Amino acid sequence: MPEGDTVHRAAAALDRALTGHTLTLTDFRVPSLATVDLRGGMPIRTLARGKHLLTRIDHDQAWTLHTHLKMEGSWHLYAGTDRWRRPADQARVVLGIDGRTAVGFSLGIVELVPRHAEGDLTAHLGPDLLGPDWDEAKALERLSAVPDRPVGEALLDQSNLAGIGNMYMAELCFTSGIHPTTPVTDVPDLPRLVRRARLMLEANKARAIQSTTGDLRPRERMWVYRRDTSPCRRCGTAIQVAMVGPLERARAAYWCPSCQPAR
Ligand SMILES: [Zn+2]
Repeated sequence: MPEGDTVHRAAAALDRALTGHTLTLTDFRVPSLATVDLRGGMPIRTLARGKHLLTRIDHDQAWTLHTHLKMEGSWHLYAGTDRWRRPADQARVVLGIDGRTAVGFSLGIVELVPRHAEGDLTAHLGPDLLGPDWDEAKALERLSAVPDRPVGEALLDQSNLAGIGNMYMAELCFTSGIHPTTPVTDVPDLPRLVRRARLMLEANKARAIQSTTGDLRPRERMWVYRRDTSPCRRCGTAIQVAMVGPLERARAAYWCPSCQPAR
């Protein structure tokens, strides 16, 4: 599951590559858009809202292409005749300009909406940790609205605040010394945790390799995420992993039983 900073980085790359260039090829490989042809149109901006990607395209009318990476999705940029790095049958959107092609693979959402309806796509999201609309007070209010909810689950709920996936959830709980199942109301300093979330995403927004420890070497980049059975960096206890949250949305949580005792 890509984190908010990954999505912001993808948006910035698409924006740099496509904005201001006439589309010479468009291919939407989803049934609902199979007959759509936006050749001759022009992308005027790609931006991220939470984990949603919005590509504004001017054609016969003002459109917004809405895509979401969900679990396995990615956008790639290719020059000229480069070979695609993922199988062609995973491609869902192909946007070509002179000399470059952007390909969206395994996208969880692909839809085209009139630009005036763009706001409806992301109206359900809480404040975006990396967005221009970031509002700490509002995020705290939403997080605190259900006091008994496990903090790990509350952090993943994009309607509370947008941008945190499994990785940052695990790393934030560790660096705050709280077990992921701790009720929100029992988190000692929620504002500090939220500020730390923003710092972590900001720090990783511009770099290709994500790290929460500040160490960019392989296997040294995270405190607990995907480090189950490895010793905790602080105390040496074996990191644990378990699925948490409601069955249909259960996610893997990682924690150190000594540094993050269950309450
Ligand atoms: Zn520990």
